[in-house]
Amino acid sequence: MNANEIVATMEQLYPDARCALNHETPFQLLVATVLSAQTTDAAVNKVTPALFQAYPSAKEMAQASPSEIEPYIQRIGLYRNKARSIVHLSIELENRFDGVVPSSHKDLESLPGVGRKTANVVRAVAFGIPSFAVDTHVERVSKRLGLAKPQDSVVKVEAKLKRKIDRSSWIQAHHTFIFFGRYMCTARNPKCDNCPFVSICKKDRYK
Ligand code: SF4
Repeated sequence: MNANEIVATMEQLYPDARCALNHETPFQLLVATVLSAQTTDAAVNKVTPALFQAYPSAKEMAQASPSEIEPYIQRIGLYRNKARSIVHLSIELENRFDGVVPSSHKDLESLPGVGRKTANVVRAVAFGIPSFAVDTHVERVSKRLGLAKPQDSVVKVEAKLKRKIDRSSWIQAHHTFIFFGRYMCTARNPKCDNCPFVSICKKDRYK
């Protein structure tokens, strides 16, 4: 089974896979993605309605202090660092980009708290630019399915997925891999009895 066949089979399992972070603008997606580091999308969705009501765009958030943001997000992990990041990235957006979220890797990754994964999510979901963000689910699934080697870095996993999967499928495949990793190929106790990939699975090499 080649990579595109794996994607097609997985998409039959999760035809409605999509970005699970609630947002209405590229700015809100960027902030929600920064907040999602080391926590679940569901936890982020619980705090963002009040946060975005108070601070809907970079203009408002740039005028806040991190200590004013903290009460809105204190239910998620690393909230102090994240409050600092989202205020500083809002200030940078205002100062350098007129408050508009940029779409290039270089510009996105120049913002505080924004790494390659976040930049890829924003490029794909907000701008529809073919990208393949590698988060913990995508990395695990890719390695268990033999699309990458156990020792590969996330950058190498991304490069291999992009080489093996048709460019037109990258955005949807990214969402599908996340759903598969979240609901079937979980880190602990994956549901292998229901999995269509048992015959090609390399879980013995990548737990
Ligand atoms: S067989 Fe199990 S570990 Fe392997 S890909 Fe399927 S769910 Fe994941």
